[in-house]
Amino acid sequence: MVKRRIAEILRSGQPDESLLIQGWVRTKRELKGFSFIEVNDGSSLASLQVVMNQDLPDYEAIIKKLNTGASVEVAGVLVPSQGKGQRIELKAETVKVYGEADPETYPLQKKRHSYEFLRTIGHLRSRTNSFGAVFRVRNACATAIHQFFQERGFLWVHTPIITASDCEGAGELFNVTGFNLKDIPRTEKNAVDYAQDFFGRPTYLTVSGQLEAEVMAMAFSNVYTFGPTFRAENSNTSRHLAEFWMVEPEMAFCDLDGDMDLAEAFLKHVFKYVLETCPEDMEFFNQRIDDTVLATAENIINNEFQRLTYTEAISLLEKADVKFEYPVSWGLDLQSEHERYLAEQLFKKPVIVSDYPAKIKAFYMRLSDDEKTVRAMDILAPKIGEIIGGSQREERLDVLEKRILAQGMKPEDLWWYLDLRRYGTVPHAGFGLGFERLVQFMTGMGNIRDVIPFPRTPQSAEF
Ligand code: ATP
Ligand code: MN
Repeated sequence: MVKRRIAEILRSGQPDESLLIQGWVRTKRELKGFSFIEVNDGSSLASLQVVMNQDLPDYEAIIKKLNTGASVEVAGVLVPSQGKGQRIELKAETVKVYGEADPETYPLQKKRHSYEFLRTIGHLRSRTNSFGAVFRVRNACATAIHQFFQERGFLWVHTPIITASDCEGAGELFNVTGFNLKDIPRTEKNAVDYAQDFFGRPTYLTVSGQLEAEVMAMAFSNVYTFGPTFRAENSNTSRHLAEFWMVEPEMAFCDLDGDMDLAEAFLKHVFKYVLETCPEDMEFFNQRIDDTVLATAENIINNEFQRLTYTEAISLLEKADVKFEYPVSWGLDLQSEHERYLAEQLFKKPVIVSDYPAKIKAFYMRLSDDEKTVRAMDILAPKIGEIIGGSQREERLDVLEKRILAQGMKPEDLWWYLDLRRYGTVPHAGFGLGFERLVQFMTGMGNIRDVIPFPRTPQSAEF
């Protein structure tokens, strides 16, 4: 008997086809003489309805075992469905129960559970409609990202997770050590003796693959990273994780305008791909989570992003007829409320803000001729705020060295990064996208903990 996935059966299954499915029972309805179960195998939001007649061998015993959460294999024939809600259903000929799920203790009974509750059962929550839809869309986003870059000849490069550079200034670092924490070697001055540690020096979990991506771009022209990054920031917000995935393209022979063009084309591509490949899941989000999700996706695909400079953004914010909690003035960083005002209220579409004050941006961003601003850009999205941060990189050795010193860092620590400017330097640019922020934006999910299968946040790493 042919084994088939439920998504495929619902899409193309024909009456009279004999087939076999495997999955988990979502619901059971017992009637006189027959019963229905809904079986879901994760391939689609919709489950397949299975009809079991009482003349099935061992009918009574099997039905008793088929509670919500039980795993089954059903062989049978597809028949046109009499009931509403589905075109076809599977008439069971044999049913095998792999594992039962005790209805007294199985926590996912047929009712709506809060996301807070579902986070406490991280090992089971993927079996719900919401998380099924989220993780299918997450998968589609990842596929779209690779497709976008691969079609354009970008090399996917794997940058290290353990790094020795602590100087990117992107956030708090997690230390990586091989020491027995109960017995840490000390120097004569009682400092930690890193010379004796695994790598012979302090090491950390990476906060970004950018510096290494720049190395690779200086050989392959166009590259991207797509992997996990870590920040020990103790910020308990709905937009921050301690472990999250980042996408970081880096392009040689490219300036900030090219960078913005790529970022815009990139977001459009990902949205288009997800709408095309996950229409049912996206419809679900629009109905259940946020009724602006589909309109927003269309908005992104069909409209040019609004581009303006930081200086222009500040003057618009100063004129705004809303009261902000944080002050607005040239030189201060934009807060989330300002970003949301620009994207959500003023322009009602994604906004690219560029040319930020040098003082509030990282050392590697290219200094403009005014010597006050750097060629940086952020893409601000309605509901989420900053979704992409990028810049043209400083390719001039002398300027870069000055910027490093000005930020209180040591050029020696970045000797290899500076070497890229000594040998065959070129204008280059790139950006970073928080992958979970993208999935949040795509699905309308309010909390970033609910778009990654196993969220890592302060005080929480259970599953
Ligand atoms: P924010 O101001 O929101 O904390 P950031 O300025 O620290 O962001 P960057 O250092 O520019 O962010 O990181 C690049 C991208 O990674 C951001 O645009 C955002 O999408 C994402 N990002 C940053 N920090 C986190 C986090 N803790 N959890 C999930 N995504 C994050
Ligand atoms: Mn941050």
